Amino acid sequence: MEWADELAARVSGPQVVNDSKTPSGTVHVGSLRGPVILDVITRALRAAGHETTLLYGIDDLDPMDAQALLTPDAVEREMGRPLAHIPDQEDDGHASYARHHAQRFIDTFDGLGVHPDRYYWMSEHYAAGDMDRYIRIALDRAEVVREVYRRVANVRHPDAWHPVSVICPSCGRVGTTIVTQWNGEEVFFECRASLVTWARGCGAQGWLSPFGGNAKLPWNLEWAAQWSLFGVTIEPNGKDLATAGGSRDRSEAIAREVFEREPPINVPYEFLNIGGRKMSTSKGRGAPAHLIAEVIPPEQLRFLFIRPKPNQAIEFDPEGTDAIPRLFDEFDRLGDAVAGRDVKGELPPGFGNVFRYSLLDPDADVDAAAGRFRFPFAHLATLIQIPGVDVASVAASEKGEPLQPAELAELETRIAAARAWLDVYAPEDAKLTVQATLPDDASGLDAVERHFLGALIERATELADGPGAHDGDAWQAAIFETATDGGVKPGKAFRAVYLAFLGRPNGPRAGWLLAKLEPAFVVERLREAAAAGKLPV
Ligand SMILES: [Zn+2]
Ligand SMILES: [Zn+2]
Repeated sequence: MEWADELAARVSGPQVVNDSKTPSGTVHVGSLRGPVILDVITRALRAAGHETTLLYGIDDLDPMDAQALLTPDAVEREMGRPLAHIPDQEDDGHASYARHHAQRFIDTFDGLGVHPDRYYWMSEHYAAGDMDRYIRIALDRAEVVREVYRRVANVRHPDAWHPVSVICPSCGRVGTTIVTQWNGEEVFFECRASLVTWARGCGAQGWLSPFGGNAKLPWNLEWAAQWSLFGVTIEPNGKDLATAGGSRDRSEAIAREVFEREPPINVPYEFLNIGGRKMSTSKGRGAPAHLIAEVIPPEQLRFLFIRPKPNQAIEFDPEGTDAIPRLFDEFDRLGDAVAGRDVKGELPPGFGNVFRYSLLDPDADVDAAAGRFRFPFAHLATLIQIPGVDVASVAASEKGEPLQPAELAELETRIAAARAWLDVYAPEDAKLTVQATLPDDASGLDAVERHFLGALIERATELADGPGAHDGDAWQAAIFETATDGGVKPGKAFRAVYLAFLGRPNGPRAGWLLAKLEPAFVVERLREAAAAGKLPV
């Protein structure tokens, strides 16, 4: 976490941290790395005593350019229009398409503990005239803008091109218009049928004022103008925008040469790759933010994003792997280390801050949070598959005392996460099923294990007929004592039980497993397993 503290150490004066997003469609989990990084920067600045404002912008005057996101009847009418002017495609009460999709990511940020001091909507700032002075500067310096595009990005705009897009007064599209003249008060625009491939202009043309919401700046200029309008000092962006001659370079050059202001400090960050795929696009399996966020609780999701430095890509493949249990284990390991408990393995540098910034509440008592009892995820995932187990009382016995309310809440969160993980991502071998007939793997029982199972029949019969038939501790004791009496190591004894009932060599605490089953079934299965592999006499 040194990077955030180093950043906080090298700036001075009040800070404005900013990012903005086009509200165009689904939020994918990879796109949440940016907001979490913004939040960490903001917390680090505040911890260092800097007065800090976190802003998040909705670029809702951007044109609609993706057919797939519209209902079929809306495609012809809406393509190329500003997102803020397109009706909500779902009948759920939002004022516009932009508001609908922006709300989805605002909700997601909220759940992740990312709370900007203010969300701003570019459509409102244009309408209020806040962007007018930047539009005027851009038009007055159109030649400088064209030169910047040529030099920085090798993009040649025609000499008549002016850096503003009029919202066509006739068809309402913004993606199809070009401005070719500027007389100091009005611009001459044309709404061209084939300016872009993805939308068709109506052919209107004429002079009009570009101010007060009639026009918007192209993205690179709008970005640079946001820096001036809001006094932005720090703005991270994804690596895709940070390429040489890419968006960031263009906007930085425009900030310096057109709006005459130093651009904010950049913190470029790498992508999250899900199963080897870059999650910056709308394609990808199991990766919409809401789905992964249903499985991984917010603190572990924050942890996933901030454990590596921003410039390191994150490789994460939850599908059919133990990546999610391992994420929890590592979170718990760092928490234990923060709490001063002994942990295995080396600790990453700055692990205390990684843990602290993973917590949802910026004002949380970090030591108290670290010291809490946390149930190991994989063990929990097994336990919840055994019907009737009271996980809270198991947790209390593991902890050695009753759980505190915060620990119970954390346990509930983890139980929900473990259930979702079993449903969505877990490998088959994490799923626990008592086999209806003697599993094939029971043929792997050796003579000692078969003998042990045979010896257990007597105790099992006693238990089955008595009050302890569904008492997990009584079954656990029976297994232990039978093993000890027979000189069998407990590990071998448990392996035998798992093989006989689950067809795998490991499992949850065996006593509880047997206590949940029909006693007669247990006795019969022990008989079958004890006889398995024996040669017929
Ligand atoms: Zn809606
Ligand atoms: Zn038009």
